[in-house]
Amino acid sequence: MKYMICLFFVIFFFQTSNAQLLKYFEEKTLRLDYYHCGNAAAEQFFFDELIEEPFWAGSETKLIDTNGYGNHFVEVRLEDTGELIFSRGYSTLFDEWKTTPQAQATDCCYPESVVIPFPRNKVVVSIISRNKQGEFGKKFEYSVDPKSHFIKKEREKLSVFDVVNSGPPAKKVDVVLLPEGYTIDQQELFKSDCQKFAEEFFRYEPYTENRDKFNIRGVWAPSKEEGPDIPGDRIWNETCLNASYYTFGSERYLMVNDFQGIRDMAGNAPYDYIYILANTAKYGGGAIYNFYGISAAHHINETGKIYIHEFGHLFAGLGDEYVGGVEYSEFYPTSVEPWEPNLTTLVNFDQKWKSILPEGTVIPTNSTQKNQEKLGVYEGGGYVSKGVYRPAFNCLMNNLHNIDVFCPVCNKAIKGMIDFNCK
Ligand SMILES: [Zn+2]
Repeated sequence: MKYMICLFFVIFFFQTSNAQLLKYFEEKTLRLDYYHCGNAAAEQFFFDELIEEPFWAGSETKLIDTNGYGNHFVEVRLEDTGELIFSRGYSTLFDEWKTTPQAQATDCCYPESVVIPFPRNKVVVSIISRNKQGEFGKKFEYSVDPKSHFIKKEREKLSVFDVVNSGPPAKKVDVVLLPEGYTIDQQELFKSDCQKFAEEFFRYEPYTENRDKFNIRGVWAPSKEEGPDIPGDRIWNETCLNASYYTFGSERYLMVNDFQGIRDMAGNAPYDYIYILANTAKYGGGAIYNFYGISAAHHINETGKIYIHEFGHLFAGLGDEYVGGVEYSEFYPTSVEPWEPNLTTLVNFDQKWKSILPEGTVIPTNSTQKNQEKLGVYEGGGYVSKGVYRPAFNCLMNNLHNIDVFCPVCNKAIKGMIDFNCK
C-alpha cells in the first residue's frame, strides 16, 4: 500500500511538473525565421519560414516570461481563445545597428529567428517590440497550423558531445557551444576549448555554486579556413558561421550577422543559450540578450573573463557598465528607464536596486576611495559618462582588468535567471 501511495505521488508529480508544457506543446521546437529590416527611424519584420527541430530544452513550467528583459517579446496565443501560452524576451543585432550612423543613411535587413515549443493546436505567433520611449507595440503576427506540411524538417545533422552533463534539459540551463573557424583537423582543439570554457565559466560566482544547474554541450562543424574575418586587416576567411571583427566599425566587436545559420547548427543539441567559440587569439567578442554570444577562445590572458562578461549579456540581460568604446547614438535615452537590471537613468529607480542599497546611500554616489567597495548609484555606464548610472565602482560587466567578481546587482540578476530556467 505504501508503495502504491509513493508510486501515485511520483506519477502525480511528473504529470503536474510537465503538464503545463505538455497541455499545449510537444517536446520539440518550432522555429520561425524572419527578416528584421529598417533604419534608424522604423523597423519591419518579414516572414521567412517555419522549421521543426528535434529538441526543446526550456522549462516545462515557466512558459510565460516574467523577467521583462529584452527589446522584443515573442508571444504565442491559442488561435481559438487568444489565451497567452508562451512568451520570451530577447534582443537582436539589428537593434544595435539601428543606433549607428549608417542607419541614418540607409536601410538594412538582418536574418533573425525565434524558437517556441512545438504547439499541438493552431496558434498565433506575435513579436512585440519596445520603441525608443519604452512603449510596446505589436510588429509582427503569423498564424501557425502545426499540421501544415510546409513546416520544414530537413537540416544538416552534426555530431554533439557532452562537456558538462548535470541532468534533464528541462530542469537545467542548457548551453550549446559552437565552433567558428576551426578546420577539419582541429576537432580535438575545439573539444579542449569547450572544456576550458567550462573550467573558466565555473571559476566565477554565482556560477561556481550553481554548477549542478548547468549542462554544456558542443556541436562539431569544421570550417575551410582558420579564424574569423578581420576586415581592418583585409582578412576574409571561409568559415562555417562567417563571424567578423569590426562590427559597426569597432575592431574588437566580433559578431555574426546570420542568426539563422547559428540556429541551424545549434538545433542539433537541446539548448537554451548559444555561445560561439572563435578560433583566434585576437581580443574581442560580443553577446546580446537571449540571442547569442561569441568570443575569442585563445586570447593570451583574458579569455575566461571575456566568456563571463559576454555570457552576462546573453543570459541575464546585463548591460555594459563601462563608458565609451562604441559608436552608438543615444543607446540609452536618459528620459527612459532601461530594461537592463544593472543600469538606471533614475527615471524609475524603484524597480531597480533601490531596495538593496545600504541605508543612507547618497544618490548619485561619489566615486571616492572609501566608496569603491560599496553598492551605490555611480554615474557613468551604458557607454556614456552622464545620465546613466551603474551599481558599483567596478564589476565584471565593467572593466575586466582589475576585477574578478560581479557586483551584487548583477549577481542577483544571474541567480534569478538560473532559477527561472531550472523550475
Ligand atoms: Zn554589475
